[in-house]
Order: sequence, then structure tokens, then C-alpha cells
Amino acid sequence: MKRAELKGENKTRITLTSKEVSELLAEGIVTVVLLLLINVAILMILDQLVQHSQSLTDTIFNIKGILNAQLDSNVFSSSKKFLILFFVVLDLAVLYWRLIRRYHQMQMRHVISELHYIANGHYDHRIPFELSGDLGRVIDSINVLVESTVTAIEEERKIEKSKDELITNVSHDLRTPLTSIIGYLGLIEDRQYHSEEEFLHYTHTAYLKAKQMKVLVEDLFEYTKVRQPTTKLKLVRFDLNQMMEQLAADFALEAERKHVTIAVKTTPTPFYFEADTEKLVRVFNNLLSNALKYGKGAQHILMEAQQVGTEAIITVKNDGQPIPQAALQQLFDRFYRVEESRSQETGGTGLGLAIAQSIVALHGGYIYAKSDAQWTSFILHLPLGK
Ligand code: ATP
Ligand code: MG
Repeated sequence: MKRAELKGENKTRITLTSKEVSELLAEGIVTVVLLLLINVAILMILDQLVQHSQSLTDTIFNIKGILNAQLDSNVFSSSKKFLILFFVVLDLAVLYWRLIRRYHQMQMRHVISELHYIANGHYDHRIPFELSGDLGRVIDSINVLVESTVTAIEEERKIEKSKDELITNVSHDLRTPLTSIIGYLGLIEDRQYHSEEEFLHYTHTAYLKAKQMKVLVEDLFEYTKVRQPTTKLKLVRFDLNQMMEQLAADFALEAERKHVTIAVKTTPTPFYFEADTEKLVRVFNNLLSNALKYGKGAQHILMEAQQVGTEAIITVKNDGQPIPQAALQQLFDRFYRVEESRSQETGGTGLGLAIAQSIVALHGGYIYAKSDAQWTSFILHLPLGK
């Protein structure tokens, strides 16, 4: 948080405790008494000196001669008045200085006790005092420091938690196919098959599960790679329309099997665009395979791209069963799948959209989903590039 923001918070003045007030009073009284004693002592010494030292008297009369002033015999009493006035002013200054010094010490004590309070784990607490001068600036800096430290700790905790979750999910997703592989290979090892057909069935299932593991490991690798904001993109200029047509052709067979048509429309055509083609193809592959896999009852898939200002708005949509509104926000979370059907029938890892989101973010854009009775759409906003 910035210093300016802290200033807006409820700040209070330091209120002294009754003990501190009495301490301050005692300090004042002791100082006054001591000063009075010192003043009286000095006056008495001066008086004695003037009365008993002839040489000093002579000196004073000499000065009188030099100044040619009209000093009468009461010269000492008027000097005394001046001296007393001088002492009063000096005493007041000393008194003020001592009291202010003590008051600042008390303020410092309050600040230190607030610091101890924060250090004892009350990280949401801030030093609330409004002070001017150096101490005020120190308080502001401490508050800013505490704020940024707390933010850093929270960030660290979040990362730690998300890493733990990642490890839990990955170990779960690896363990499931691995258990099957070991199970089927165990059957073969123990010769628990009765025909070659059965033997082949076991090896085939183990092979499929091993491939599933490979996909997960590869996705995970890709995910961790694109999550790093420092990942370099291989930007090239290409025709988006051509890329989309190619993707539609790649999925044509699968779409035909499911009685779904894939259409492409870009404005303008050709649509020249700068991006990392390999990564962008990965995004589209996932969006298209999702539309085919999860868009239950869909008959049409549309891939559209439009140039709006300095952005390309790309939509991949299907007219299948809508995604529940509550799930829309979570689609892009890693390992999230709408029906908790992980490692079941449709067999995805739930990393596809998380990877897509990171790839789009690396390009400086964003992606979101919307779904209604008619269309389930995934919309990408990407800057056109230089
Ligand atoms: P992966 O892509 O890693 O193989 P996945 O496809 O399950 O696995 P995502 O691509 O991240 O993972 O998709 C997350 C979830 O979002 C899917 O499991 C599915 O439930 C839902 N989903 C995604 N696209 C659609 C869609 N077009 N229609 C309906 N649901 C969808
Ligand atoms: Mg997917």
C-alpha cells in the first residue's frame, strides 16, 4: 500500500496515560525546582562576588566610565533585574526543552509498543498515530513496510498452497492410470489370462493408460512452462483465417462422426496477425476438442475472428448444452472439470483451459467464457501486434 493510502486511514493522536502525565508533571516540577536552586545559587555567588571583590567593582566603574552612562549606586539592583529576567527566559527555554524531550521519548515508547504488538503476530494492525516531523515519517514508512511484507507473505503462502494442490492433483492423476497399468501387467506377469485375446486386451489397456499418463505429464510440462511470465514467444506474422481453416480441416473427421459442422469466418479475410503460432494452435486445439467432447447435442461449431481497434477478438463457440453459470468462472482453473468426471469417460486432465489462459496472457490478451441456451462461447482478446 502506498503512503498516500495510509494517510487516508483513521489516524489518531497519541494520548498519554495518566502515569505518563504524572511523569511529565514530576519532570516539570523537578526541573523548575532545580533551575530555581541554580538561579538562586548563581545570584548569590554574583552578589557575593560584587560585594567582596574590589577589583570587580573597579572593573564595573571603569566600564561605567567608558560608557559614560548614568549609573547610580543602585547599578547592581538594576543589573539584577535584568539578570533575573534573563534567568526566567533561560529557565523557560530549558523547561520547554526538557518536557518536549520527555514527551518525544513517550511517543517513541508508544510507537515501540505498537511495533511489538505487530511483531507478535497482529499483522493486520497498523501504527495509527498521526505525528508530524521525523517520527511521523518513520511511522508512515513502518506502515508501508508492514503492508508490503504482509502482502509478500500472503503471496508466498498462496504460491505454497497452490503448489501443494498441484502436487496432490498430479499425484492423484498419475496414480490412477499407474494403478491400472500395474494391475494389468501384474495379471500378465502371473499368467492370469486364458487366451491370446485376453492377453492382448490387458496389454492394450496398459498401453492406453500409459499414453494417458504421457499426456498428463506433457500437459503439466506445458502448463508450468507457459505459467512463467518470462517464457519467450516465437512471434510470427501469419493469416489467422488460413490457420482456422486448417484447424477446421484437422477436426473435420471427428466432427463428422459426431454430426457437427465446423465453420470459419474472419473479418477481414485474410486476417494478418502476429502471434506464437505453435502455442495459439494449442489453444484452438483445446477449444475445438472441448467443443466436440463437452458440447452435448451440438450441431455447429463456429470459429470467428474480428478486428476491433488494435485487438483481434476471436470466438470459438458451439450450440451444445450450456455450461452452468456458476462453473464459468472456474473453467480456467487447472484441473477443473465441470462434471467431476476426472479420469472418467472423456478422460481430459483439466489443464487445457488453464494452459490456454496462460498462453493468451503471454500474448498480452485475455480469455473468458460465456454460455446461454444458444451458444457456449470462448472469447479471446489478443492485441494485433506491432
Ligand atoms: P484437457 O483439455 O486437459 O484434456 P479438459 O478438456 O477436461 O482436459 P479443459 O479444457 O481445461 O480440461 O476444460 C475444463 C472443463 O470445462 C471441461 O472438463 C468441461 O467440463 C468444461 N468445458 C470446456 N469446454 C466446454 C464446452 N465447449 N462445453 C461444455 N463444457 C466445456
Ligand atoms: Mg480440454
